Amino acid sequence: MSARAYFDWNATAPLRDEARAAMLAALDVTGAASSVHSEGRAARALVEKARGQVAALAGAEAKSVIFTSGATEANMLALTPDLVVLGKRVVCDRLIVSAIEHASVLGGGRFAADNVGLLPVTGEGVVDLNALRAALAEGGRALVSVMHANNETGVVQPIAEIAGIVHEAGGVLHVDAAQTAGRIDCAIGSLGADMLTISSHKLGGPQGAGALVLNGPQPAAPVIKGGGQERGFRAGTENVAGISGFGAAAEATARSRQAAATRMAALRDRFETHLNAELPGAVIFGAGMPRLPNTSLVAVPGLKAETALIAFDLNGIAVSSGSACSSGKVGASHVLAAMGVEPALAAGAIRVSLGWTTTEADVEILLNAWKKVVATLLKRHAQAA
Ligand code: PMP
Repeated sequence: MSARAYFDWNATAPLRDEARAAMLAALDVTGAASSVHSEGRAARALVEKARGQVAALAGAEAKSVIFTSGATEANMLALTPDLVVLGKRVVCDRLIVSAIEHASVLGGGRFAADNVGLLPVTGEGVVDLNALRAALAEGGRALVSVMHANNETGVVQPIAEIAGIVHEAGGVLHVDAAQTAGRIDCAIGSLGADMLTISSHKLGGPQGAGALVLNGPQPAAPVIKGGGQERGFRAGTENVAGISGFGAAAEATARSRQAAATRMAALRDRFETHLNAELPGAVIFGAGMPRLPNTSLVAVPGLKAETALIAFDLNGIAVSSGSACSSGKVGASHVLAAMGVEPALAAGAIRVSLGWTTTEADVEILLNAWKKVVATLLKRHAQAA
Protein backbone atom coordinates (compact mmCIF):
# COMPACT_ATOMS: atom_id res chain seq x y z
CA MET A 1 0.00 0.00 0.00
CA SER A 2 1.32 3.46 -0.83
CA ALA A 3 2.06 5.96 1.93
CA ARG A 4 -0.88 7.49 3.70
CA ALA A 5 -0.91 10.88 5.36
CA TYR A 6 -3.39 11.86 8.08
CA PHE A 7 -4.68 15.42 7.95
CA ASP A 8 -7.78 15.18 10.12
CA TRP A 9 -6.37 16.04 13.54
CA ASN A 10 -9.27 18.37 14.34
CA ALA A 11 -11.56 15.33 14.19
CA THR A 12 -9.27 13.25 16.38
CA ALA A 13 -5.57 12.81 17.09
CA PRO A 14 -3.55 9.61 17.44
CA LEU A 15 -2.97 8.31 20.95
CA ARG A 16 0.26 9.61 22.50
CA ASP A 17 2.74 7.05 23.83
CA GLU A 18 2.46 8.58 27.29
CA ALA A 19 -1.33 8.14 27.20
CA ARG A 20 -1.10 4.52 26.04
CA ALA A 21 1.37 3.68 28.83
CA ALA A 22 -0.81 5.33 31.47
CA MET A 23 -3.92 3.55 30.21
CA LEU A 24 -2.27 0.14 30.16
CA ALA A 25 -1.08 0.63 33.74
CA ALA A 26 -4.55 1.78 34.82
CA LEU A 27 -6.27 -1.21 33.22
CA ASP A 28 -4.48 -3.44 35.71
CA VAL A 29 -5.80 -1.55 38.72
CA THR A 30 -8.79 -3.48 40.01
CA GLY A 31 -10.57 -1.05 42.31
CA ALA A 32 -13.36 1.44 41.65
CA ALA A 33 -12.21 4.96 42.48
CA SER A 34 -14.91 5.45 45.15
CA SER A 35 -14.10 2.29 47.11
CA VAL A 36 -12.32 2.74 50.44
CA HIS A 37 -10.10 -0.36 50.28
CA SER A 38 -6.57 -0.14 48.96
CA GLU A 39 -7.54 -1.29 45.47
CA GLY A 40 -10.08 1.53 45.35
CA ARG A 41 -7.58 4.00 46.71
CA ALA A 42 -5.12 2.99 43.99
CA ALA A 43 -7.74 3.78 41.34
CA ARG A 44 -8.57 7.06 43.12
CA ALA A 45 -4.88 8.00 43.10
CA LEU A 46 -4.76 7.59 39.31
CA VAL A 47 -7.86 9.74 38.83
CA GLU A 48 -6.48 12.44 41.13
CA LYS A 49 -3.11 12.40 39.39
CA ALA A 50 -4.88 12.96 36.07
CA ARG A 51 -7.00 15.71 37.63
CA GLY A 52 -3.82 17.56 38.53
CA GLN A 53 -2.38 17.06 35.04
CA VAL A 54 -5.52 18.39 33.31
CA ALA A 55 -5.77 21.25 35.81
CA ALA A 56 -2.18 22.27 35.00
CA LEU A 57 -3.03 22.41 31.29
CA ALA A 58 -6.02 24.65 32.05
CA GLY A 59 -4.14 26.79 34.58
CA ALA A 60 -6.62 25.77 37.27
CA GLU A 61 -6.67 24.05 40.65
CA ALA A 62 -7.20 20.29 40.60
CA LYS A 63 -10.50 20.58 42.48
CA SER A 64 -11.90 22.70 39.62
CA VAL A 65 -11.72 19.81 37.12
CA ILE A 66 -14.78 17.62 36.56
CA PHE A 67 -14.19 14.58 34.39
CA THR A 68 -16.83 13.72 31.79
CA SER A 69 -17.15 11.36 28.83
CA GLY A 70 -15.86 14.05 26.46
CA ALA A 71 -16.32 17.64 25.36
CA THR A 72 -19.90 17.01 24.26
CA GLU A 73 -20.88 15.99 27.79
CA ALA A 74 -18.81 18.78 29.36
CA ASN A 75 -20.75 21.26 27.21
CA MET A 76 -24.02 19.66 28.32
CA LEU A 77 -22.94 19.97 31.96
CA ALA A 78 -21.98 23.63 31.55
CA LEU A 79 -24.98 24.81 29.56
CA THR A 80 -27.60 24.84 32.27
CA PRO A 81 -29.81 27.72 33.40
CA ASP A 82 -29.25 26.69 37.04
CA LEU A 83 -25.91 27.89 38.33
CA VAL A 84 -24.25 28.58 41.65
CA VAL A 85 -22.43 31.91 41.56
CA LEU A 86 -20.55 33.18 44.63
CA GLY A 87 -22.30 30.50 46.69
CA LYS A 88 -25.81 31.57 45.62
CA ARG A 89 -28.23 29.75 43.31
CA VAL A 90 -28.95 31.85 40.23
CA VAL A 91 -31.09 31.18 37.20
CA CYS A 92 -29.95 32.31 33.76
CA ASP A 93 -32.83 33.54 31.65
CA ARG A 94 -31.04 32.95 28.37
CA LEU A 95 -28.24 31.13 26.67
CA ILE A 96 -26.38 33.10 24.00
CA VAL A 97 -24.12 31.10 21.70
CA SER A 98 -22.24 31.97 18.53
CA ALA A 99 -23.60 30.67 15.24
CA ILE A 100 -20.35 28.77 14.58
CA GLU A 101 -20.36 26.62 17.72
CA HIS A 102 -20.00 22.85 17.66
CA ALA A 103 -23.31 20.95 17.46
CA SER A 104 -23.02 20.07 21.16
CA VAL A 105 -23.31 23.78 22.04
CA LEU A 106 -25.72 24.77 19.28
CA GLY A 107 -28.08 22.15 20.73
CA GLY A 108 -28.55 24.53 23.69
CA GLY A 109 -27.60 22.11 26.45
CA ARG A 110 -30.21 22.08 29.20
CA PHE A 111 -31.90 25.34 28.14
CA ALA A 112 -35.35 25.36 26.55
CA ALA A 113 -34.98 25.96 22.80
CA ASP A 114 -36.92 29.25 23.06
CA ASN A 115 -34.31 30.63 25.45
CA VAL A 116 -31.32 30.13 23.16
CA GLY A 117 -30.07 33.07 21.04
CA LEU A 118 -27.52 32.95 18.22
CA LEU A 119 -24.74 35.49 17.71
CA PRO A 120 -23.66 36.30 14.16
CA VAL A 121 -20.02 36.20 13.05
CA THR A 122 -18.06 38.35 10.59
CA GLY A 123 -17.08 37.20 7.10
CA GLU A 124 -13.73 36.15 8.64
CA GLY A 125 -15.46 33.92 11.19
CA VAL A 126 -15.05 36.09 14.29
CA VAL A 127 -17.92 36.58 16.72
CA ASP A 128 -19.61 39.95 16.24
CA LEU A 129 -18.92 41.77 19.49
CA ASN A 130 -21.49 44.50 18.88
CA ALA A 131 -24.15 41.84 18.44
CA LEU A 132 -23.00 40.34 21.75
CA ARG A 133 -23.30 43.73 23.48
CA ALA A 134 -26.78 44.21 21.99
CA ALA A 135 -27.92 40.72 23.02
CA LEU A 136 -26.71 41.27 26.59
CA ALA A 137 -28.43 44.66 26.74
CA GLU A 138 -31.79 42.93 26.30
CA GLY A 139 -31.73 42.34 30.05
CA GLY A 140 -31.97 39.35 32.34
CA ARG A 141 -29.04 37.12 33.27
CA ALA A 142 -27.31 35.42 30.37
CA LEU A 143 -25.02 32.44 30.07
CA VAL A 144 -22.81 32.99 27.02
CA SER A 145 -20.96 30.17 25.23
CA VAL A 146 -18.27 30.97 22.66
CA MET A 147 -15.65 28.51 21.45
CA HIS A 148 -11.97 29.34 21.87
CA ALA A 149 -11.19 28.39 18.26
CA ASN A 150 -13.44 27.08 15.55
CA ASN A 151 -13.01 23.46 14.55
CA GLU A 152 -13.50 24.14 10.83
CA THR A 153 -11.64 27.41 10.17
CA GLY A 154 -9.28 27.35 13.17
CA VAL A 155 -10.09 31.05 13.75
CA VAL A 156 -9.33 31.99 17.36
CA GLN A 157 -12.00 34.09 19.04
CA PRO A 158 -11.22 37.20 21.12
CA ILE A 159 -12.19 35.43 24.34
CA ALA A 160 -10.61 37.86 26.81
CA GLU A 161 -12.54 40.74 25.21
CA ILE A 162 -15.73 38.66 25.15
CA ALA A 163 -15.21 37.82 28.84
CA GLY A 164 -14.96 41.53 29.66
CA ILE A 165 -18.22 42.29 27.82
CA VAL A 166 -20.10 39.35 29.36
CA HIS A 167 -18.95 40.05 32.91
CA GLU A 168 -19.66 43.78 32.62
CA ALA A 169 -23.27 42.82 31.82
CA GLY A 170 -23.44 40.43 34.79
CA GLY A 171 -23.34 37.31 32.63
CA VAL A 172 -21.43 34.05 32.88
CA LEU A 173 -19.05 32.82 30.15
CA HIS A 174 -18.49 29.23 29.06
CA VAL A 175 -15.70 28.54 26.56
CA ASP A 176 -15.40 25.36 24.50
CA ALA A 177 -11.64 24.80 24.23
CA ALA A 178 -11.89 21.36 22.60
CA GLN A 179 -9.77 22.56 19.67
CA THR A 180 -7.30 24.74 21.56
CA ALA A 181 -6.28 22.77 24.64
CA GLY A 182 -2.77 21.55 23.95
CA ARG A 183 -2.37 23.70 20.84
CA ILE A 184 -2.40 27.24 22.19
CA ASP A 185 -2.52 28.65 25.70
CA CYS A 186 -5.93 28.01 27.21
CA ALA A 187 -5.37 28.99 30.84
CA ILE A 188 -8.86 29.62 32.16
CA GLY A 189 -7.78 32.70 34.15
CA SER A 190 -6.10 34.52 31.29
CA LEU A 191 -9.04 33.76 29.01
CA GLY A 192 -11.40 35.12 31.65
CA ALA A 193 -13.73 32.14 31.21
CA ASP A 194 -15.97 30.95 34.04
CA MET A 195 -16.22 27.40 32.68
CA LEU A 196 -13.94 25.71 30.14
CA THR A 197 -14.49 22.51 28.14
CA ILE A 198 -11.58 20.24 27.19
CA SER A 199 -11.61 17.04 25.11
CA SER A 200 -9.05 14.27 25.63
CA HIS A 201 -8.86 12.84 22.13
CA LYS A 202 -7.93 16.09 20.41
CA LEU A 203 -4.71 16.29 22.40
CA GLY A 204 -3.56 12.69 22.19
CA GLY A 205 -5.58 11.09 24.96
CA PRO A 206 -8.23 8.44 24.36
CA GLN A 207 -11.66 9.11 22.89
CA GLY A 208 -14.47 9.12 25.45
CA ALA A 209 -12.88 11.37 28.08
CA GLY A 210 -13.06 15.10 28.67
CA ALA A 211 -13.46 17.68 31.38
CA LEU A 212 -15.29 20.78 32.44
CA VAL A 213 -13.01 23.17 34.32
CA LEU A 214 -14.62 25.63 36.72
CA ASN A 215 -13.45 29.12 37.66
CA GLY A 216 -16.07 30.30 40.15
CA PRO A 217 -19.57 29.82 38.74
CA GLN A 218 -20.67 26.20 38.57
CA PRO A 219 -23.65 24.15 37.43
CA ALA A 220 -26.22 23.69 40.21
CA ALA A 221 -27.39 20.31 38.94
CA PRO A 222 -25.54 17.20 37.76
CA VAL A 223 -25.48 16.27 34.11
CA ILE A 224 -25.92 12.60 35.07
CA LYS A 225 -27.72 11.83 38.34
CA GLY A 226 -26.81 8.81 40.40
CA GLY A 227 -23.92 7.83 42.60
CA GLY A 228 -22.50 11.27 43.30
CA GLN A 229 -19.09 10.80 41.68
CA GLU A 230 -17.14 13.82 40.43
CA ARG A 231 -18.37 15.94 43.36
CA GLY A 232 -21.94 15.14 42.38
CA PHE A 233 -21.67 16.73 38.93
CA ARG A 234 -21.39 13.47 36.99
CA ALA A 235 -22.47 10.15 38.41
CA GLY A 236 -21.07 6.81 37.29
CA THR A 237 -17.99 4.74 38.10
CA GLU A 238 -15.01 6.69 36.81
CA ASN A 239 -13.39 5.64 33.53
CA VAL A 240 -10.03 5.26 35.27
CA ALA A 241 -8.03 4.15 32.23
CA GLY A 242 -9.55 6.83 30.01
CA ILE A 243 -8.99 9.54 32.61
CA SER A 244 -5.40 8.37 33.20
CA GLY A 245 -4.67 8.49 29.48
CA PHE A 246 -6.24 11.94 29.28
CA GLY A 247 -4.07 13.19 32.15
CA ALA A 248 -0.87 11.76 30.68
CA ALA A 249 -1.66 13.31 27.29
CA ALA A 250 -2.40 16.67 28.90
CA GLU A 251 0.96 16.62 30.67
CA ALA A 252 2.86 15.58 27.53
CA THR A 253 1.07 18.28 25.55
CA ALA A 254 1.97 20.98 28.03
CA ARG A 255 5.65 20.06 27.68
CA SER A 256 5.75 20.07 23.88
CA ARG A 257 3.06 22.56 22.92
CA GLN A 258 5.14 25.50 21.85
CA ALA A 259 7.63 23.57 19.72
CA ALA A 260 4.77 21.63 18.09
CA ALA A 261 2.87 24.85 17.33
CA THR A 262 5.89 26.39 15.60
CA ARG A 263 6.46 23.26 13.50
CA MET A 264 2.79 22.89 12.55
CA ALA A 265 2.45 26.55 11.59
CA ALA A 266 5.50 26.28 9.31
CA LEU A 267 4.09 23.17 7.60
CA ARG A 268 0.62 24.69 7.32
CA ASP A 269 2.08 27.88 5.81
CA ARG A 270 4.06 25.83 3.33
CA PHE A 271 0.88 24.04 2.26
CA GLU A 272 -1.00 27.32 1.89
CA THR A 273 1.83 29.05 -0.01
CA HIS A 274 2.00 26.21 -2.54
CA LEU A 275 -1.76 26.14 -2.81
CA ASN A 276 -1.98 29.87 -3.53
CA ALA A 277 0.75 29.54 -6.16
CA GLU A 278 -0.78 26.51 -7.91
CA LEU A 279 -4.47 27.30 -7.55
CA PRO A 280 -4.92 31.06 -7.61
CA GLY A 281 -8.72 30.73 -7.30
CA ALA A 282 -8.56 28.81 -4.01
CA VAL A 283 -9.99 30.57 -0.96
CA ILE A 284 -8.47 30.06 2.49
CA PHE A 285 -11.10 30.96 5.06
CA GLY A 286 -10.15 33.23 7.95
CA ALA A 287 -6.60 33.53 6.57
CA GLY A 288 -6.19 37.10 7.81
CA MET A 289 -7.31 36.29 11.35
CA PRO A 290 -5.51 34.77 14.32
CA ARG A 291 -5.83 31.04 13.62
CA LEU A 292 -4.81 27.76 15.18
CA PRO A 293 -1.34 26.82 13.91
CA ASN A 294 -2.58 23.51 12.50
CA THR A 295 -5.75 24.31 10.56
CA SER A 296 -6.48 25.33 7.00
CA LEU A 297 -9.98 25.41 5.53
CA VAL A 298 -9.75 25.75 1.77
CA ALA A 299 -12.35 25.96 -0.98
CA VAL A 300 -11.62 25.51 -4.65
CA PRO A 301 -14.36 26.96 -6.86
CA GLY A 302 -16.04 24.23 -8.87
CA LEU A 303 -14.93 21.43 -6.55
CA LYS A 304 -17.40 19.30 -4.57
CA ALA A 305 -16.07 18.29 -1.16
CA GLU A 306 -18.01 15.05 -1.06
CA THR A 307 -16.32 13.67 -4.19
CA ALA A 308 -12.98 15.26 -3.32
CA LEU A 309 -12.85 13.55 0.11
CA ILE A 310 -13.22 10.13 -1.51
CA ALA A 311 -10.66 10.95 -4.20
CA PHE A 312 -8.20 12.17 -1.54
CA ASP A 313 -8.77 9.01 0.48
CA LEU A 314 -8.05 6.85 -2.56
CA ASN A 315 -4.84 8.86 -2.98
CA GLY A 316 -3.74 8.16 0.57
CA ILE A 317 -4.92 11.38 2.20
CA ALA A 318 -7.33 11.70 5.14
CA VAL A 319 -8.90 15.16 5.09
CA SER A 320 -12.40 16.30 5.97
CA SER A 321 -14.97 18.76 4.85
CA GLY A 322 -15.39 20.20 8.34
CA SER A 323 -17.64 19.23 11.19
CA ALA A 324 -20.66 18.57 9.03
CA CYS A 325 -19.68 15.01 8.16
CA SER A 326 -19.93 13.74 11.75
CA SER A 327 -22.65 11.32 10.73
CA GLY A 328 -20.66 10.07 7.74
CA LYS A 329 -22.59 12.33 5.38
CA VAL A 330 -21.23 15.53 3.94
CA GLY A 331 -23.65 18.37 4.60
CA ALA A 332 -23.48 22.13 4.19
CA SER A 333 -21.18 23.77 6.74
CA HIS A 334 -23.13 25.90 9.24
CA VAL A 335 -19.87 27.72 9.96
CA LEU A 336 -19.33 28.85 6.37
CA ALA A 337 -23.04 29.67 6.05
CA ALA A 338 -22.76 31.92 9.14
CA MET A 339 -19.72 33.59 7.54
CA GLY A 340 -21.87 34.43 4.51
CA VAL A 341 -19.97 32.15 2.13
CA GLU A 342 -21.84 31.30 -1.09
CA PRO A 343 -23.27 27.76 -0.79
CA ALA A 344 -21.61 26.73 -4.09
CA LEU A 345 -18.16 27.73 -2.79
CA ALA A 346 -18.82 26.27 0.68
CA ALA A 347 -19.69 22.94 -0.95
CA GLY A 348 -16.06 22.69 -2.08
CA ALA A 349 -14.47 23.39 1.31
CA ILE A 350 -11.83 20.93 2.47
CA ARG A 351 -10.36 21.03 5.97
CA VAL A 352 -6.71 20.15 6.32
CA SER A 353 -5.62 19.80 9.95
CA LEU A 354 -2.12 18.88 11.10
CA GLY A 355 -0.65 17.51 14.29
CA TRP A 356 2.53 16.96 16.23
CA THR A 357 3.70 14.02 14.13
CA THR A 358 2.96 15.62 10.75
CA THR A 359 6.14 15.77 8.66
CA GLU A 360 7.37 17.62 5.60
CA ALA A 361 7.01 14.35 3.72
CA ASP A 362 3.31 14.23 4.66
CA VAL A 363 2.84 17.75 3.31
CA GLU A 364 4.63 16.70 0.11
CA ILE A 365 2.20 13.76 -0.28
CA LEU A 366 -0.68 16.14 0.33
CA LEU A 367 0.52 18.69 -2.23
CA ASN A 368 1.02 16.01 -4.89
CA ALA A 369 -2.39 14.50 -4.22
CA TRP A 370 -3.94 17.95 -4.20
CA LYS A 371 -2.63 18.72 -7.68
CA LYS A 372 -3.82 15.40 -9.04
CA VAL A 373 -7.22 15.21 -7.34
CA VAL A 374 -8.22 18.81 -8.00
CA ALA A 375 -7.15 18.74 -11.66
CA THR A 376 -9.01 15.45 -12.30
CA LEU A 377 -12.17 16.51 -10.52
CA LEU A 378 -12.36 19.98 -12.02
CA LYS A 379 -11.93 18.45 -15.49
CA ARG A 380 -14.65 15.88 -14.75
CA HIS A 381 -17.04 18.54 -13.40
CA ALA A 382 -16.36 20.75 -16.45
CA GLN A 383 -17.10 17.87 -18.82
CA ALA A 384 -20.32 17.07 -16.96
CA ALA A 385 -21.49 20.70 -17.07
N1 PMP B 1 -16.45 21.02 20.64
C1 PMP B 1 -15.67 21.17 19.56
C2 PMP B 1 -15.26 22.55 19.16
C3 PMP B 1 -15.22 20.06 18.85
O1 PMP B 1 -14.45 20.22 17.78
C4 PMP B 1 -15.62 18.76 19.29
C5 PMP B 1 -15.17 17.52 18.54
N2 PMP B 1 -15.45 17.54 17.16
C6 PMP B 1 -16.45 18.66 20.41
C7 PMP B 1 -16.84 19.80 21.06
C8 PMP B 1 -16.91 17.32 20.91
O2 PMP B 1 -15.86 16.63 21.53
P1 PMP B 1 -16.00 15.12 22.03
O3 PMP B 1 -15.73 14.29 20.84
O4 PMP B 1 -14.93 14.97 23.09
O5 PMP B 1 -17.36 14.94 22.59
